[in-house]
Amino acid sequence: MWTARVFTLYPELFPGPLGIGLYKKALDKKIWSLEIIDIRDYAEDRHKTVDDTPFGGGSGMVMRADVVANSLDKNILDKKEPIIYLSPKGKKFDQIYSKKISKKNINIICGHFEGIDERILETRNIEEVSIGDFVLSGGEIGAFVIIDSVVRLLPGVLGNPKSLSEESFENDLLEYPQYTKPQKWEKKEVPSVLLTGDHKKIKDWRLSQSEDITRRRRPDLWKKYKKDK
Ligand code: SAH
Repeated sequence: MWTARVFTLYPELFPGPLGIGLYKKALDKKIWSLEIIDIRDYAEDRHKTVDDTPFGGGSGMVMRADVVANSLDKNILDKKEPIIYLSPKGKKFDQIYSKKISKKNINIICGHFEGIDERILETRNIEEVSIGDFVLSGGEIGAFVIIDSVVRLLPGVLGNPKSLSEESFENDLLEYPQYTKPQKWEKKEVPSVLLTGDHKKIKDWRLSQSEDITRRRRPDLWKKYKKDK
């Protein structure tokens, strides 16, 4: 079973979008599990303070290292488990990273305010991970992104595991276009090759569509694809 342990100030947001459909079924089947830790429970003062003003001045508040550390130390018993801190300064999250972390349980810290006291990142061997070049108000949506992308990789979650190997980013290509019934809709026909039943021809057509769309939309991926081919 793959477990994601999430450290958050907003436990009420979970499981949120992860509590439906295939994800719920997979939870019930114990293919994965979600543990939500309320960081505020680990604040030691009367007011349950988790943040404070930054040294050196500046706007906003910073999450305290001692409170976050306390929540990590009391809940992560296996010290080899990776810890991720969601942060716009982190390594960009992608499908390769998702596959890597699907092999081990992970701990995810969701930041808020201006972020976390830097010292926690240094003392607890935490990897900073970003979900993209934009700034969110908190790490929770990033946690949903990461967990969502990992869970669908776990064996037994998707009905047809073959669909994984044909998806975008496999072999550095974006996926080909998909069609379903009706065959004719608003004067638009489904590409005729898809109706031939000729598997080789369909495969070739899909590959050429994938190549075409990747070349036009994602020159960075296209370069990688050409190099590895
Ligand atoms: N002051 C910080 C931004 C803080 S945003 C800076 O300029 O870098 C508040 C929290 O939202 C962060 O601690 C982080 O956990 C989360 N967050 C914001 N943008 C994110 C992104 N692109 N990827 C992952 N987490 C993000």
